[in-house]
Amino acid sequence: MAGSGGAGVPGTPGVGSGGAGGGGSGGSGSGGVGSSGGDGAAAGEGLTIRGFFGVFRYSHRAIQLVWSTSPVLTVSLGLLTIVAGVLPAGIAYVGSLIVDAVVGAMRAGVGAGADSPARVVELVILEGVLVAAVAAAQRGISLCQSLLRAQLGQRVNVMILEKALTLELQHFEDSEFYDKLTRARREASSRPLSLIMRTFGLGQNGISLISYGALLAHFSPWAVAVLLLAGLPAFIAEAKFSGDAFRLFRWRSPETRMQIYLETVIGREDYAKEVKLYGLGPRLLDRYRDIFRRLYKEDRALTIRRDAWGFGLGLVATLALYGAYAWIAVSTVRSLITLGQMTMYLALFRQGQSAVSAMLSSVGGMYEDNLYLSTLYEYLETEVPEPAGNAKYGPHPEDGIRFEDVGFKYPGSEQAALEHINLHLRPGESLALVGENGSGKTTLIKLLTRLYQPTSGRILLDGQNLAEWDETALRQRVGVIFQDFARYQMLVGENVGAGDEQFFEDEPRWREAAEKGRASEFIETLPSGYKTQLGKWFKDGRELSGGQWQKIALSRAFMRTRADVLVLDEPTAAMDAQAEAEVFEHFRQLAKGRITILISHRFSTVRMADRIAVLDHGRMVEYGSHEELMRLEGRYAHLFTLQARGYR
Ligand code: ADP
Repeated sequence: MAGSGGAGVPGTPGVGSGGAGGGGSGGSGSGGVGSSGGDGAAAGEGLTIRGFFGVFRYSHRAIQLVWSTSPVLTVSLGLLTIVAGVLPAGIAYVGSLIVDAVVGAMRAGVGAGADSPARVVELVILEGVLVAAVAAAQRGISLCQSLLRAQLGQRVNVMILEKALTLELQHFEDSEFYDKLTRARREASSRPLSLIMRTFGLGQNGISLISYGALLAHFSPWAVAVLLLAGLPAFIAEAKFSGDAFRLFRWRSPETRMQIYLETVIGREDYAKEVKLYGLGPRLLDRYRDIFRRLYKEDRALTIRRDAWGFGLGLVATLALYGAYAWIAVSTVRSLITLGQMTMYLALFRQGQSAVSAMLSSVGGMYEDNLYLSTLYEYLETEVPEPAGNAKYGPHPEDGIRFEDVGFKYPGSEQAALEHINLHLRPGESLALVGENGSGKTTLIKLLTRLYQPTSGRILLDGQNLAEWDETALRQRVGVIFQDFARYQMLVGENVGAGDEQFFEDEPRWREAAEKGRASEFIETLPSGYKTQLGKWFKDGRELSGGQWQKIALSRAFMRTRADVLVLDEPTAAMDAQAEAEVFEHFRQLAKGRITILISHRFSTVRMADRIAVLDHGRMVEYGSHEELMRLEGRYAHLFTLQARGYR
């Protein structure tokens, strides 16, 4: 039905492929406008028949989700809902019997018989039991709800995180995608249950309404019609405003993200140093306030409109109620119905009307839940390219790594980050990459590790195209320590162990690797040695100096004893030149038979590599050994002499 033109979904395929194919160059700003365009259609749709049924678009998925989370709780919830739906009409009916029994007993005279009062008491007891049963059912419903809410919240969060694990690096670097993730995380985890509860609530009130209608139809079918129609205007308004609220929510995603970011910058220890010293705090806080003020203005306008309309249309319903009241009262005066029936019809009308308005607000809420859920599913359905290949070996293990005329542009970028790169490294050889910041060194490593795919040319490992390698096999072959390596707020040992997932908790291996990475010395002085907690987030967490962290990162590289391609992307920048040269020498010795790639700005280290590649604006301008490049007297020789002079 509405599957093809859902809430904001029309914009989605464009967003996804735009990010990958280079269309979405405008960043988050254009993303906001783009997706709100899609919602415009959706909000309009809220007022059509198709839009009405769109309310149920995600219901079956939400039900599936809830069902698979806990079948027992779902069934209990369903049964209790039916019970709580049917009983109120029963109570109204018994109420009418009580009034009529009382009136009948009074007419018959006080002394006429002892069994009339007994019957009244029986009926009263019956009504009491029914009321107690309704209360029990309601309790049961809220119990099931609480349990389901806890399980479902966890389930959806795990789904979101599991999906995050399958995503590519480029997704995380894409601001529009990041918006989706933020939205999904913020709202959607509470929405499936809410949708289910509203669906059940709708069912419960529907059942009540049918039973009321059946009783009320005895009085007049017109009364039933009045009951139903009086709520209609309120529904239309509800659907419209829910759409508006959602559109606001979506529009604002970039702003909300900025708010969250500002909170982080102001409130977190890693920024505190600079924020304090540069006195950035008040300015950042002002921005934070500004965003709130802007959002609040929109919120207030919408809330006021929503409530004003709600009040106006609510009056229509009240009018209908009192019209019906008069009608029923007059009919009683004319003795068309009994006094008992009058109380019952009035109760039916009043309760019927609150059931109608509960149903309408359920529908309005469901509409909203659906829209929010669409962001969850939009995120969960983000297309992830199939794991490329399944090759576990290459045909020529002795061939090592080859770059064949490799070029690369970042998604959304016009300029090539790399062009015409040709390289060949055999096992046992080492390569150093040299070049200014932004010349493409890290990008080359990202391609080699398949975090990104080349836009032209190809990369071979052991004679096999990188794209055809099995993900896991490839990850085991290549070990990289980036300059912005992760500083996990975990144990020191685990920070080392992170280098080889399989030995994440293997203490003897931690020690061995830390020895090689020259981290063991300071680790042993820490209060709990390898079991010392790092980072300030947790109790007794220790902070390390930049150089100490780098030693941890290096040790992480030494954990990768099984990797035969090792890449060090400037992880030694915080060490002095002497220490860096020693580390690299050490590294080369241990790395016999492997390929090592090093990025460094220090020529004393660079010169030790077998091959040196000089990059400039994404092109390889010089390639060869230290001696060859010195003889060439080109850029390398120039830079080398410049730096060597500095050390003299
Ligand atoms: P280096 O490591 O030599 O300092 P990089 O490989 O990081 O340089 O960057 C090469 C070029 O690619 C630079 O112009 C940089 O702006 C651009 N670039 C790097 N990362 C991204 C990214 N995630 N998205 C878009 N452009 C990027």
